[in-house]
Amino acid sequence: MLVELAVGDAYGAGFEYAEPDFVAAHNTLRGYVSHPTHGQLPGAYTDDTQMTLALAELLADGDPWTPEHIAERFVDAFHRDPRPGYAGGFQAFLVGVRTGADFLARIRPHSDKSGAAMRVAPVGLLSTVDEVLHRAEVQARVTHDTPDGIASASAAALAVHYCRHGLGPVAEVGAWIADRLGSPVWARPWQGKVGSKGVMSVRAALTALAGHDSQSEVLRACVAFTGDVDTVATIALAAASWVLPNDLPQVLLDDLENGTYGRDHLAQLDARLRECG
Ligand SMILES: [Mg+2]
Repeated sequence: MLVELAVGDAYGAGFEYAEPDFVAAHNTLRGYVSHPTHGQLPGAYTDDTQMTLALAELLADGDPWTPEHIAERFVDAFHRDPRPGYAGGFQAFLVGVRTGADFLARIRPHSDKSGAAMRVAPVGLLSTVDEVLHRAEVQARVTHDTPDGIASASAAALAVHYCRHGLGPVAEVGAWIADRLGSPVWARPWQGKVGSKGVMSVRAALTALAGHDSQSEVLRACVAFTGDVDTVATIALAAASWVLPNDLPQVLLDDLENGTYGRDHLAQLDARLRECG
């Protein structure tokens, strides 16, 4: 799951908010693309994967799921391996904090953007819906203590849970989540450019997931929306990795970054996570 979601993140990063013409011309899955303006290295993942790693390691280590531990993991994940890709204001905030306590004292957790949803996939592996919802909410409140911030994180975690535990046909994932969360919005297909709100990214991810038969088709569909597509692809591939055939092109696996916290680290952590849920 972590390797696949990182491929989605790194591939999508080449297209984040790029012009539709650029996306149409280069969204071929033949390799990672240099973003037309960001200067991000092809194959490098972004904040989505780095923050997912922070939560995956906390889950695998079995430490208490508290705001303090969660914030500490976010701070550690950033400072051990600083990278661009975070929203500018949050990146500056992370540079300035050194401990989880400092993070919690200074964060203004009022965002309804996609940050709490993009990182939540490991939570979906837990064995009950109640536990998934509880942990998704606790981690969301650290930075996104808003109704939509929490709901989008809950929906993204439930998508992984549904796929991981084989709870129904993938085409019905949105309807199942809509039932669990008591809101029809999650069953409504997304169309067009994806903005920064969490609800947008998760709806787009669920639409791509429900409408395609393989991981490469899902990835291409996520990017074709245009907009915040690294986040859409991260969320969709985390869930897709459990149910759809893995036909991601070998070049995307080979060229995924593989430094200290790259592909091999993700694969090792994937193996540990399989014992968690
Ligand atoms: Mg990102």
